Amino acid sequence: MLGTLLARNGAAGAAALSTASDAQQFFEALYSEEQYNIVVIDDRPRWADWHAVAAASRKYRPYALVVLLVSVEHTVEQCEHLLGDDVAAVYPRNSAGMLALARLLATLSSQQRHFSLRRDATAVEVDAEEVVREEREKLIYAVSHDLQDPLQLARRYAGILTDDYENALGDDGTKVLDHLQFNLNRTQEMLDELLDYSRLQSARPEKTPVDMNELLSEVVSLYRLTLDEIGGSVTQQHALPTLVVDRRQMLRVMQNLIGNAIKFRSERPLQVTVRAQKVRNEWRIGVKDNGIGIADDDTKRIFGMFERAGGADEHPGTGMGLAICKRIIANHGGKIWVRSSPGSGSVFIFSIPQTDDAASSPPHD
Ligand code: ADP
Repeated sequence: MLGTLLARNGAAGAAALSTASDAQQFFEALYSEEQYNIVVIDDRPRWADWHAVAAASRKYRPYALVVLLVSVEHTVEQCEHLLGDDVAAVYPRNSAGMLALARLLATLSSQQRHFSLRRDATAVEVDAEEVVREEREKLIYAVSHDLQDPLQLARRYAGILTDDYENALGDDGTKVLDHLQFNLNRTQEMLDELLDYSRLQSARPEKTPVDMNELLSEVVSLYRLTLDEIGGSVTQQHALPTLVVDRRQMLRVMQNLIGNAIKFRSERPLQVTVRAQKVRNEWRIGVKDNGIGIADDDTKRIFGMFERAGGADEHPGTGMGLAICKRIIANHGGKIWVRSSPGSGSVFIFSIPQTDDAASSPPHD
C-alpha cells in the first residue's frame, strides 16, 4: 500500500524515499544524487533504528520533509514528542495515516509542479496539460480500484438477501432485489472496464510481429456460434499484413470492433469486411459492416468513456469498448476513427505506424 502510494505520487512529482525498501537500497538512495523532497521512515523494519535514520536523513537531505510512520497502538498524543528537528510529521500506519500521507504527498507534488511551471515559461502549457491528464488518470484509477471493495460487499449482502430471505420478501421485495442485483452487476462491469482502461495507460505494448490474418481467424472463431446463428459473415477483402503490435491488445481491438458489428447489426444479414491499406509509413485496417450506422453527431463522442450513441440502450454494453480501443491504438502511436451514416453501416478504421518496413509484409492477393 505504502509502495503504491509513493510510486503513484513519485510519478506526479513528490519524490519520496522510503524505508519500505531494504537498508542497503535506502542508504544508497539517501547518499545518491537523486532529488527527494520527502523521506518516509517506517519504524517497523528491523533494520531501521528510526532515530538514526531520521538523523541521517536530516543530515544528507536537509531540505526534505521527514515523516515517521508508527504502529497504530500509539495515540497521537504519545507520538507528538517524536516531532522535532529531525521529524516533521508522525502518522499512524493505518488508513487514516495513509490518507494524511497521501494528502501531504499531493501538496508536495503540486508545489513541485508550480515551481517547475514558474521556472520554465515555455514548459507551462505542456506541464499544465500533463498535470490535468495525470490528475484524471489518478482519479480514474482511484475510483475504479477503491470502489471495488465496497461494491463487492454490497453484492455479497444482496446475495445473502436472495439466498436466505427471498421467501420473506414477497413478490414486490423480490422484484426490487432483482433490480438491485442487476444494477450492482452492471456497476461491477463498468468498474472492471474502467480499471482495465486505467491499467492500459501504464501498460507499454509488448510488440511482436503479428500475422493479422491469423489474428482475425481467432476472433472469428470466438464469434463462430453467434455468426452461424444470425447467418452473418466476416470476410477479408485481401490478405492482411503482419504488424508489429501487442498481440493481446490487438486481439482486443479486433474483438471489440467485430463484436460491435454483430451487436449493432440491422435487419439485413450481417456482412463484415476487413481490409488493410498502406498509407505512407502506416498501415490502416478497416472493419466495415452493413449495420444500423451512427449519426454524424455521435461519430466522435462514442470513443469517449461510457459514451454510447442514440438507441444503444437496447443492446448490452457499457460504452467503454471503443474508449479502450482508442487507448490501445494510441499506445501504438496510431489513431482510430469511424465513417458512417445511419441505415447504411459503418467502417471503423485504425492506423498503426510501421517504421521498420522489413517487419511488416504487404498483403498479397
Ligand atoms: P458498447 O458496445 O458497450 O456500447 P462501445 O464503446 O464499444 O460500447 O461503443 C460505443 C457506442 O458506439 C455503442 O454504444 C454504439 O452506439 C456505437 N457503435 C459502436 N460500434 C458500432 C457499430 N459497428 N455500428 C453502430 N454503432 C456502433
